[in-house]
Amino acid sequence: MSKTAPLYLRLPSDLKDQVDLVADASEASLTHVVAGLVEVGLRNTDVEIERLKGRIVELEGQLDDVRADRDGLASELAQLREEMSRGRAVIETVSQRLRLQVGDCPSCGLPVNGEQVFIAGACSEGHNLQVELFAQPSAPSFRQKELVAALAVVGIALGVAFMVAKD
Ligand SMILES: [Zn+2]
Repeated sequence: MSKTAPLYLRLPSDLKDQVDLVADASEASLTHVVAGLVEVGLRNTDVEIERLKGRIVELEGQLDDVRADRDGLASELAQLREEMSRGRAVIETVSQRLRLQVGDCPSCGLPVNGEQVFIAGACSEGHNLQVELFAQPSAPSFRQKELVAALAVVGIALGVAFMVAKD
C-alpha cells in the first residue's frame, strides 16, 4: 500500500457490522477493507462519470440532428408558403380574367364572360355557349382577342391545377 494518511469517520452501525464481517472473512484489517471498498467506489464513480460524459456527447449529437431537421423543415415550409402565395396570386388573376366580358350570347345578346363560356358553358339565361362557339369558329358575337386571353387564362389555371396535383 502506498503512503497513508489518517481518516476518522463514523459509520451507521449496520454498515460498520458489514465491514467487520468482510474484515473477519478476509482476515484483513479494517483499514485495509475500508480502503479497498472506497477505491472500488471511486473507480465506479469514474466509470459512471465517463458513461455520463459519453451520454452527453451522444445527446448533443442527437440535438444537432434535430436542429438540422428543424432547419430543413423550416426552409421547406417557407418554400411551400411561397409556392402557395404564388398559386393564390395566379388563382386570383385567373378568376379576375374569367369575370371579364368576352362577348355576347348569340341567342339572347346578353354579355357573357370567360367563366360562362369555358366553365359554365351557358349564358345567364342558360343558352349553350359552347355549341354556338364551336359551331361558328368566327362567331361575330365573340371578341377574338378577349376570347383568346380568357382561353390562355384557362390554360394557366389547368397548368397550375396540374402542378398542384403533381405534388
Ligand atoms: Zn343567352
